[in-house]
Amino acid sequence: MQLFPLFADLQGRAVVVVGGGEIAERKIHLLTSAGANVTVVAKAISPTLQDWEAQNRIWVRLGAFQESDLDGAWLVVAATDNIQLNTAIAAHATSRKLFANVVDNASLSSFQVPAIVDRSPLVVAISSSGAAPMVARRVRAQIETMVDHSIGAIAELAQRYRGHIKEALPLLGPRRAFYDWLIDGPVGKALKAQQPKQAQSLLEDALGQKQTPPKGEVILVGAGPGDPGLLTLHALRALNQADVILYDRLVDPAILELARRDATQIHVGKEVGENHHATQQRIHHLMLEHAKQGQTVVRLKGGDAFIFGRGGEELQFLRQHSIAYQVVPGITAALACAAYSGIPLTHRQYAQSVQFVTAHRKDDTDIAEWAGLCDNSQTLVVYMGLKQLTSFNQMLIAHGRAANTPCAIIENGSRPNQRTLLTRLDQAQHYASQYTFSSPSLLIVGPVAALAKQLHWYGEIIDEYPDADTPSLSQLNVELLPELSAA
Ligand code: SAH
Repeated sequence: MQLFPLFADLQGRAVVVVGGGEIAERKIHLLTSAGANVTVVAKAISPTLQDWEAQNRIWVRLGAFQESDLDGAWLVVAATDNIQLNTAIAAHATSRKLFANVVDNASLSSFQVPAIVDRSPLVVAISSSGAAPMVARRVRAQIETMVDHSIGAIAELAQRYRGHIKEALPLLGPRRAFYDWLIDGPVGKALKAQQPKQAQSLLEDALGQKQTPPKGEVILVGAGPGDPGLLTLHALRALNQADVILYDRLVDPAILELARRDATQIHVGKEVGENHHATQQRIHHLMLEHAKQGQTVVRLKGGDAFIFGRGGEELQFLRQHSIAYQVVPGITAALACAAYSGIPLTHRQYAQSVQFVTAHRKDDTDIAEWAGLCDNSQTLVVYMGLKQLTSFNQMLIAHGRAANTPCAIIENGSRPNQRTLLTRLDQAQHYASQYTFSSPSLLIVGPVAALAKQLHWYGEIIDEYPDADTPSLSQLNVELLPELSAA
């Protein structure tokens, strides 16, 4: 090891920073955040530093650096753009056995400032020993995405209860298990959910029982439509944390690849012809069984769990059985398919609202409900099996949607094999079968669908929407141009 890692207590201690520019600002910000008494020595200082001086955050001595500026200092930072001056400051510091950092100059520095991930009181510091700051920065970015912000609050709570925890669990082994529970279990979850009082009372209950409660829970995670890049950071962390993953048919294999290697992956998707009730019972049973064993169960669903995904039913079941849970939203197929096919779901000119519906509907759906789907200025997004397409579209036309309403079918939205079919409402079924569209596919109905002609950017587009039928598009060209040229 070239450098000794060290966290210094600078509360109320004098630190001298030479230089008054932007680079100095960054170091000063960090030093004052750690409570140091910073004196800035510079011939001139930046407006920000002037503000900080006015707020008494720093002291400033305007003028040339003198050796006596180092009197009483614990640390020195040389942040000037004058290499001779920086060298001289470093030499004076060395002769006084004072640690000095020369910004961006590892060889002149006797201490270095690491790249940090700040989850105070928890701080991760990364150093490449001055060899390659870029590499350290890259690692910092990786850790930044891995570590949830709530870890700071967890550390703070652990600090406050450290004595109590030691008293309740005097043996090291059980105490470690308790800390694991504290971080991964309901206390950590409560802090993540911004419920500090709940966290504290859970912790106190557990301490009262002088043992670690079981920490099993279910995380209901939306896996998005397919492209792994559309996962949220929370989803990625949940996959890293999972003991068991219960996943649906629509979850892309590329996403399961990202899960913890030793997690048990169980496919619980409904197969064609299988009894839905039995499948759902099995899912409930598996969640309950594994969570009760203290495991972290990730229930992974395509898109978002609360949009045509039975997420609500699963949570009701968990609540009934007092199993802890969290919900991580996912990007639903409507949003992904729209984005990846260049169809804005609302548009100032063509659609003021959007409705997400499913084509699976009961036969007795009443007229009023159909009428509600037939406002020509509204975008309709239909989650469905392609089988329902003909009768669904016929009903839309029968209740007032124009037969030549533009519509798009997006197959395998956001996946490498995405295809977009642009057509008219009355011809959708014809072309969908001609081009053998299959599941999963999503239908977008409304004038905005025609914008795919211009805005489409991902995968293949099959354009079967006759230009003659596109008043909306010719209008669009005319009306948008002035705005575009103004921009
Ligand atoms: N909870 C999911 C929807 C489940 S319903 C979500 O929020 O996206 C299943 C229907 O979603 C499919 O029949 C299809 O219409 C649509 N769907 C899901 N993923 C899709 C994808 N990648 N491309 C196109 N449609 C998709």
